Amino acid sequence: MPERRPYIAGNWKMNKLREEARSYVAGLLPLIDGKDSLDIGICAPFTALEACASAAERSRLRVLAQNVHEEESGAFTGEVSCSMLTEIGVDGVVIGHSERRQYFCETDRALQRKLPAVLAAGLEPILCVGELEDERENGETERRLRHQVQEAFENVEADAVARVVVAYEPVWAIGTGRVATPEIAQDACAFIRALVRDKYHELADQVRIQYGGSVNDENARELLGQPDIDGALVGGASLDPAQFARIVDAAL
Ligand code: PEP
Repeated sequence: MPERRPYIAGNWKMNKLREEARSYVAGLLPLIDGKDSLDIGICAPFTALEACASAAERSRLRVLAQNVHEEESGAFTGEVSCSMLTEIGVDGVVIGHSERRQYFCETDRALQRKLPAVLAAGLEPILCVGELEDERENGETERRLRHQVQEAFENVEADAVARVVVAYEPVWAIGTGRVATPEIAQDACAFIRALVRDKYHELADQVRIQYGGSVNDENARELLGQPDIDGALVGGASLDPAQFARIVDAAL
């Protein structure tokens, strides 16, 4: 089975002005220096992406956006395309975050078009999936995850699948301080991998699956120790570079 490099990404959501973003990156880089056995990324708001990309130049820190439109150009007021991201040195993009699904009507159908567009542009996608609290309580977690994963991967060719990063983010754990137990997170990540395996067979072993939802520097190590959890997507706890770097250390 191939070794999967751990991948820790920080999702800043709608936080940090450009100057704050620049000084964050300047503060983080020495803290992650030499930690070459894993991948590290920050997901910044559109306005701070260029500042982050330039501050992170010649480092291994990846810079990701938090959304993108699937079309290359056109009458889509307020949207940003993949080439607009690559032009300013962005490495990847989070798609399908539950906050975008919840507040901005992001649909599985749109993600079915976004994921291949992101891959075709040479960007790294972090595809977020996860169940609502009601769905977990009603025994519908697997049904929900199956739908999200199957829809999103519908148009992804086998030769690109290993570049997809999936983040399992149970919605009830996001921003609530209610982190999933390592067992719950592991079971869901293993289930997601099995779904990918149904379509792509052994290539599923190359797909990295992160856990996200109230990860911090105290709970990260146990979560990251689970066999199907290959990293973390960290929201609130990524806003401080020192705490984010401690989460990175938990993956070493
Ligand atoms: C997120 O925004 O993806 C997230 C997991 O947030 P938090 O870590 O704050 O729960």
